[in-house]
Amino acid sequence: MSEVEAQRQKEIQQAEELLFAGPQALGFAKGLFHGHFVADWVMPYPRVPAAQQTELDKTLAEVRQFLDEHLDPVAIDRQADIPRAVIDGLGRVGVLGTTAPVEFGGRGFMQMANCQVLEEIGSRCASTSVFVNAHHSIGIRALLLFGTHEQKQKWLPKLVTGEQLGAFALTEKEAGSDAANVQMQARPSPDGSHFILNGEKRFITNAAIARVLTVMARTPVPDSDKTAITAFLVTPDMPGFTILEARMPKMGIRGTATGRFALRDVKVPKENILGPPGKGLKIALTVLDFGRTTFGACCTGAAKTCLRLAVEHANTRKQFNKTLGEFHLVKKKIARIAADAYAMEAMTTITASLIDRGLEDYMIETAMLKVFTTERLWEAINEAFQIYGGSAYFVDLPLERMVRDARINQIGEGSNEVLTSFIALVGMRGPGMEFKEIYDTMLKPSRGLGKAWTAGMHRLGAAVRIPDVPVRSAELRSFANQLGRLIWRFNIAVNRALIAYREPILDLQLIQERIAGAAMDLFASTCVLSRWDAELQFARRNGDSGPQTNHAADLFLRQSFRRIRRFLSDLSENEDKAVVATANSALGKVS
Ligand SMILES: Cc1cc2nc3c(=O)[nH]c(=O)nc-3n(C[C@H](O)[C@H](O)[C@H](O)COP(=O)(O)OP(=O)(O)OC[C@H]3O[C@@H](n4cnc5c(N)ncnc54)[C@H](O)[C@@H]3O)c2cc1C
Repeated sequence: MSEVEAQRQKEIQQAEELLFAGPQALGFAKGLFHGHFVADWVMPYPRVPAAQQTELDKTLAEVRQFLDEHLDPVAIDRQADIPRAVIDGLGRVGVLGTTAPVEFGGRGFMQMANCQVLEEIGSRCASTSVFVNAHHSIGIRALLLFGTHEQKQKWLPKLVTGEQLGAFALTEKEAGSDAANVQMQARPSPDGSHFILNGEKRFITNAAIARVLTVMARTPVPDSDKTAITAFLVTPDMPGFTILEARMPKMGIRGTATGRFALRDVKVPKENILGPPGKGLKIALTVLDFGRTTFGACCTGAAKTCLRLAVEHANTRKQFNKTLGEFHLVKKKIARIAADAYAMEAMTTITASLIDRGLEDYMIETAMLKVFTTERLWEAINEAFQIYGGSAYFVDLPLERMVRDARINQIGEGSNEVLTSFIALVGMRGPGMEFKEIYDTMLKPSRGLGKAWTAGMHRLGAAVRIPDVPVRSAELRSFANQLGRLIWRFNIAVNRALIAYREPILDLQLIQERIAGAAMDLFASTCVLSRWDAELQFARRNGDSGPQTNHAADLFLRQSFRRIRRFLSDLSENEDKAVVATANSALGKVS
């Protein structure tokens, strides 16, 4: 076996252990790859329960008032700092412990409610929303999800008020996108009472202001020569904790403190281990699932701000004796932002609800949400910027800051390329396993025909059936039927790709990108349809029986369906060979 092949087999084995251990209910995204529409997870459109909605409305009103009075995004950007008074205020209005249990001083909100709070902050100041995410969405998430009662009792009360801040430290020089390559070492002490940590972390939000850091480090696996990643709670007062750079100067989200630190023989008590030893990578990925959900909420808030700014300008600025909004090329940009902002909100709500409803495996959905919302926001800011013309370029308007702030979104918490590949490969694994079952049996019939027969019938069943998309509003039936047909076509395309490429598909990222792109748009369209259906039903219940045209939803579905068809047809008609050859030639590699 070649070195490359051995490395791949190792990666496959690691991914299998990490992502697919134990039986899991079929989620929505995985269902799509099997040609199913698992309606229960997405319809009817989820709502925060009435009892929590009252509490949420109160919190949102307090948060809005606080932000109106005390949050100055321009000053935060210029001074490259979020004032302590703002952090304290965020703690007072509950934002730093929104989802923490009430018994530890949190608000006990579900993820859907948390997303509404984050959308509000994201609509105003990206530095502040990233700071809150670093502290609450990821910094203290491992403690919330995997901490013991004693650990929560000890650490959470000061963290949920903001008296102490949290951080999440995974990234290192050699472990960026390749998160499994963490090099920081954690050696057990001879008496087993503590671990001795050595190594460096970089690009860590809140590193120098946090009092509690969730740090991923490599521990020996007992009775073996292997190591695995374990999550530790580390505090900066531990001897050997050294901040190397407190605030790395940077392009955007300048208010956040992004730092580098070293641990030099830092003794961490074994009581500070979060979750099972050796399961740190799984913990990190779960934590990032939560981060990606609130990422979606923050991007939604920022996209709504783009829409507001674009509309204000297009309605007031005149050229050629017309307001800009009268030109179709400007209308096109505004329409696109409106349609995308509607979809981003719907997708955020549904993804958050999957967590709230206890779906065990929502990693494809959170990855889709992260990629979709960060890419759409980048477009939205670019479109709004263009509508403002030269004036957007100057620092008295928020758009130049928004451009700088938004650029990190496509890189942080899993770069969009890595997540795109992840969506396609994790999604295709299910149907791929069924094909493998069939192939293996054809090669070695002694393995038993029963399993292969079941897998074959399963594949065949999905291929002949167009799934039903159960909307309640008659006026949406046509969209629902189109969506069902596209899911059917998607499934056929996935099957074809698996049959045509087999295992080498693991390296064919241009194919993966189209499959992931189609899956993302299928998910986004589903969320839009579900939301629009709920709005129509709500209007009907309130006695409004006239036709309800939601232009943004209508446009989104039309554009999304067109994109899906394009992704699928490009699978067979493309310039991939020329793309790879050109890149190889530029890279100085032989094709
Ligand atoms: C402002 C800021 C704040 C951050 N905060 C935190 C934090 O709080 N905690 C934390 O742990 N980390 C944090 N990070 C780190 C962040 O998560 C990483 O930057 C990110 O994971 C990418 O790693 P990298 O920068 O090393 O890029 P690399 O891994 O070097 O990747 C560079 C590029 O290569 C491409 N690429 C890489 N791998 C693949 C692949 N398999 N297929 C195709 N393309 C690929 C992608 O385009 C990617 O953008 C932060 C980073 C920044 C800039």
